[in-house]
Amino acid sequence: MERQTADDLVAVCDHCLTPIPDGAGVLEIDIAAADRALRRWRVKAGPDPLAVYATTPGARPVRWSTRHHDCGRPPRSPYTITVERIRTWPGLLHWGSHLADKYWLPATDWHDLTGRAIEPLRAAVSGILPAHPRDPHDGPVGDRPR
Ligand SMILES: [Zn+2]
Repeated sequence: MERQTADDLVAVCDHCLTPIPDGAGVLEIDIAAADRALRRWRVKAGPDPLAVYATTPGARPVRWSTRHHDCGRPPRSPYTITVERIRTWPGLLHWGSHLADKYWLPATDWHDLTGRAIEPLRAAVSGILPAHPRDPHDGPVGDRPR
C-alpha cells in the first residue's frame, strides 16, 4: 500500500491568518487558565456528578490558539503541540486520545476546534468575510482609508 504523504490539515495563525509551515508554530492552550475556569465552574455547578462544563449556561471554554512562533505571545502556562505533529487525521485522533486524560480538557474548546476541522462548514468559510483577512485588534475594521 502506498503511504500518503500529503498533509490532511492546515494550521492557520490566529494572529496573521496565514498558514503555519512545519517548525514555525504551535497549537497551544493555557492550562492554568483552564484549571481556573474548571474550578470556578465546579463551585457554580456544585457537586452534581452529571454536570457537564460545555452545556452549563455561562461557562466559557478557554480557547486553544494557533500561532506562528513570532506572532502573539505564549500563555503563562502553555501546553503546546507543534503544528507538524498534528497535520493528519490520525495525528488529530492521537492528540484527542492523549488529551482525554487531562482533567482540564473539558474547560477548553478542544471539541469545538476538532469539530471545525471535521466539519469545515462550521468554521468561518461563508457569510460576509474580509477579502483580505487581518487581525481586527491590529487596526480599524471596515472600509476606512489607510
Ligand atoms: Zn502568524
